Parts: sequence; structure tokens; C-alpha cells
Amino acid sequence: MKVQDINIGVKLNGFKHIFVKKRLSPWKKYNRFLSDSQWWSKGDLLDYQQQAFKRLIERVYEHVPYYRGAMQIFNVKPDDIRSLQDLSLMPFVEKEMVRRNPGQFLSTKSFAPVLYKCHTSGTTGTPLTLYRDLRNIGFEYAMLSRQRQWAGLSEGDRYATLKGELLPVRSLAAKKFCAWNGAENKLVMSSYHISAQTFREYVHALTRYKVVALDGYPSSIYALAAFMLDRGMVLPMKAILTSSETLVPEHKKIIEQAFACRVFDYYGMAERIAAIHTCEHGSYHIVPEYSIVELVRSSQVGDGFFEIVGTALNNNAMPLIRYRVGDIAETLDKACPCGRHYPVLKGIVGRTDDSIITPNGKIIGRLDHIYKGTHHLRQAQIYQPEQDRVIVRIVADEAFSERDGDIVLEKLYHRLGDGIRLEIERVPYITRTPRGKIKSVISEVAAWNDHPLIERS
Ligand SMILES: [Zn+2]
Repeated sequence: MKVQDINIGVKLNGFKHIFVKKRLSPWKKYNRFLSDSQWWSKGDLLDYQQQAFKRLIERVYEHVPYYRGAMQIFNVKPDDIRSLQDLSLMPFVEKEMVRRNPGQFLSTKSFAPVLYKCHTSGTTGTPLTLYRDLRNIGFEYAMLSRQRQWAGLSEGDRYATLKGELLPVRSLAAKKFCAWNGAENKLVMSSYHISAQTFREYVHALTRYKVVALDGYPSSIYALAAFMLDRGMVLPMKAILTSSETLVPEHKKIIEQAFACRVFDYYGMAERIAAIHTCEHGSYHIVPEYSIVELVRSSQVGDGFFEIVGTALNNNAMPLIRYRVGDIAETLDKACPCGRHYPVLKGIVGRTDDSIITPNGKIIGRLDHIYKGTHHLRQAQIYQPEQDRVIVRIVADEAFSERDGDIVLEKLYHRLGDGIRLEIERVPYITRTPRGKIKSVISEVAAWNDHPLIERS
């Protein structure tokens, strides 16, 4: 089939996205709002959150069955909510509660045909069904486009995506792994097919379509960058945007070298209860206009680490309050030179259900440091099949030595301690999730969300 045919299909899909984002949703209004609010004082931001929170409580009390029921049980009235401190009057919501009964969290005021439904795949089988309204879509689009401005990009800049978007089967059969979506000025690239044999096609497409930015999974962009640098290729871009997986510092360095620009990372999730974006200074900022993020201490993680609990301020269809998303953040108490009064995090450690759980019950995240100083490593994944056994699966080039493997195991030992057998397993590739992501850690040991939190606010 012709490249033209592939592009037409992808372009039609693009028109649909553009129509929803730019024509139906109120993104322009939010664009103006977010461009001002980023310079608000701490007091103004707090005031905004308090007002939005009070309105949210009034709405859920009237229209959301779960919250109405919970507030009646706890004898809480909307008038009892006066400030953010009163968040503690509301119960935490667990993923499983929404999974079992999504309808309880859906506003009775929502008009189902205009809602957007999405599912998370999850690891426990039953997917989680979530709903968003147009307001949420517009807000999020405006928020992402604001981060693009932080990265020095303009609205019409051509960019490429490498994040699990599927290309038509016919194009894959024709060994075409990139397709131009003219409606959105975007090159869609398959994140499933980057290899020593195909990476030149990716580079060729990036050049041919004059792409100036890449947006995708760090593991996919890193794979492309590593193949390029191996052949001495550098393709300058304006910026790289990464999301959906933990950005490993070593990978960031290689990506920045191959594309001669900086990496901007962003963190979000299907439940839309928190957004964390890096700014021009590389700080991880919680976006306070999007949601209220509580960093809650847990018995399972060490000092300085907190579980992210979020209250969405911009989704009237399915408002989630004090939702435990199951991610851990590392805090950093410092102001950022960019001048925004947004809270700063040291980083997102990752999904808690992707962490290792030691035999004495400790959760250990942020294990990407074990690869530091190791050469010839392409991809890696830590796998814990049982509580006292951890396997590091690696894809490495021929020059990877036993010494390199020992360095990895030594560093892992320092983090996990005694009582766990550690092994290295060389594999030809790391299996990706159905969405094309690489999970940096997979643990078969019980999900940690069952553990109680220490504090309730
Ligand atoms: Zn900043």
C-alpha cells in the first residue's frame, strides 16, 4: 500500500481529535486562564483551590451518589467545608471501589452521550472505567500546551509521538512504522518496532516531515536515541517531552545528546487526579489549578517519600476526591528559580504496585540508580517472582561484561538488603504492555494498596 493511504487514515483520526479538543472543548478559555495563573502568588493559588473545592463538595453532595451517601454516613454537610483543611472530613477513595462500581461516582447531572469513556488496563484483570467531560478535556489540553510553551514550542510546531499509538495493521504489514497526521501536524511513530533494522526509517521520517519535537515514552525515545548515537547520528530538536514511565537519568542524558535539546517530563494518570510537569529549570511542579494533591505518609515507605492522593478540580462527570492512585513521590522543599509558586517534588518514584516488596514488608522504589555507571545496557526490567527472589532482565549489546552485571547486582543488594536472591537474566527483548510501555519493575508479590496510611491528612 502507498504511504499516502496510511497518512489519510491517520489524518482522519487527527481531525476527530482536533474537533473535540479545539472546537467542542473550552480549551481556549483555559489557555488564557493557565497562562495568567502560573504567576499567581501562593495565597492566590490557595484561594483558588479552596473556592474550587467548596464548589466541588456542593456538586458531589447534590449529584454524586457515592459522595452523598458517604457524607450522610459521616454527617458532613457542604457548609462544613470551609477550607482545604476540611478535606480530612472526606474519606479516601481506593481504586477498587471505583472499579467495582463506577456508576456510584458518576454525576447524575452528566449527560452520558457527551462523556468520554476510558479504561485503564491495570494488572489485576478487570479494567477501571472512567468518564471525563469536555471541560476536563479542554483543561488538560490547555495544561499540556502550556508545558509545551515552557519547552519553547509553539502551537503549530511539528512534532512526533512515540507512545503506544497504533498504526493501521495494513501499514505495519507494509513495514511502514511512521505515518504523518496532517490534521494535527504530528508524525505518529510506532513504539513497538524500534530496532537496529528499523531505526533509520524513524530518523528519515523525522527529517522528511521537519519534526521539531518528540513526545513519548522515555524507554522508546531512549531506544531510538541509543541507536542513533551508536551510529554517530545527532538530530537537533527544540524539545523532547516524556511521560507515562519513570524517566531514568541515564536515559535522559542519552536522549538529550541524540536530539541536542532538553527533556521535559510530565506525569499524569487515567484518573486525572494529579498533574506534575517539569518546567524550564527541570523542577517537577505539581499543577495546583488541576487538582489538590495531598502527599500522605505511609508505613510502607521511608522518610521523605509520600503517597500521592489527589482531588480532581476539573471533572464534573466523575469527580474523584482523595483518590489513592498508588504512586509515590519524593519531596523536595525548595523554591524554583522559574518564579512559579507551585510545589516542587524531587521526582515520582513510580507506581507503588511496581515496586519491590522486601521479605520484611518494606516497599522499595526508585531502583533506576542501579544501572548508573553500567555500559552496554539497552533495556532492563526488575522482576520479583516471589518475595525472596529478584531477577534483573537485561537487553545488552555484545560488549556487556560479567563485571557490568556484578555492578548492577551490587547496587541492587545495597538497596534491597539481605534475604533476597538476586540474579541477572539476559533476554533478547523486554515485553511491552498492551499500550507499548516498558514496566521498569514487575512484582508478583501482593499489591501494596492493601496497606493502611499513617495519616489521614
Ligand atoms: Zn520551576
